[in-house]
Amino acid sequence: MKKAFAMLLSLALLLGAAGAMAESTTITMGTNAGFAPFEYIGDDGEITGFDVELAYLMAQEMGMELVIEDMYFDGLLAALDQGTVDFVMAAMTINDERKEAALFSTPYFNASQAVVVLEDYEGIQTVEDIADKKVATQDGTTGYFMALDTFGCDASNVAAFKASTDCVLELTSGRADCIIIDDSVAQNFLQNFDGLKIVEGLEMPLEEYGIAVKLGNEELLEKINAALQTLVDNGTYDEIYAKYFLAAEETEGAEETAETEEAAG
Ligand code: GLN
Repeated sequence: MKKAFAMLLSLALLLGAAGAMAESTTITMGTNAGFAPFEYIGDDGEITGFDVELAYLMAQEMGMELVIEDMYFDGLLAALDQGTVDFVMAAMTINDERKEAALFSTPYFNASQAVVVLEDYEGIQTVEDIADKKVATQDGTTGYFMALDTFGCDASNVAAFKASTDCVLELTSGRADCIIIDDSVAQNFLQNFDGLKIVEGLEMPLEEYGIAVKLGNEELLEKINAALQTLVDNGTYDEIYAKYFLAAEETEGAEETAETEEAAG
């Protein structure tokens, strides 16, 4: 009887220790899982995407288990500051204002804003044309701030949504003339919703995405940069990049080949 108790006790201690270990080796990422192809809820209900796949592998490189906290984009840096999350990876553009609120990793992705309109809409030919238009954006994003500060839109004409896909509804319902959003996400809209196009030939500044950590946490920043560099050096970054950003082109290419073959045959 005593022996059994002792065994149970040591088992409990062991489990307790394992629990504590697991706890100390997790790392929490804050993201906004409504921004495909970077972070979104996959068909299986799990959060996935370009950023998310990179994050899982980076955590693995750091010897930690990744935990994801999904929240609105405009609350991410506050969550970081409060310590709710250890880092933020959310297709977040590095800019001077945000650098005052967080530390940023080496840039890991180049982007720019794109303007999405209905297929037959010709009202925007240059960036100057945006000023008097009704614009749909995502709250707290560079697209939102550009509409106001760069394109000079009236605040009453700029709608800011918590979820990026709400911008599409605003456009298709006719309440907005255009959406201003990151180019890869705009491309993703075109793949998933009919009747949209991206206005070609607009000059937009380069934006670089970075991973944010809390001000003062240089130690974690260094680890993240090192893990990112490892994934770049060993080709993993390129593989994930190809999966998310070249796959569509490849499929199109394959379809074309199939059609050509069909036509030939
Ligand atoms: N890159 C844009 C920004 O940083 C949008 C990011 C997002 O909505 N997830 O503001």
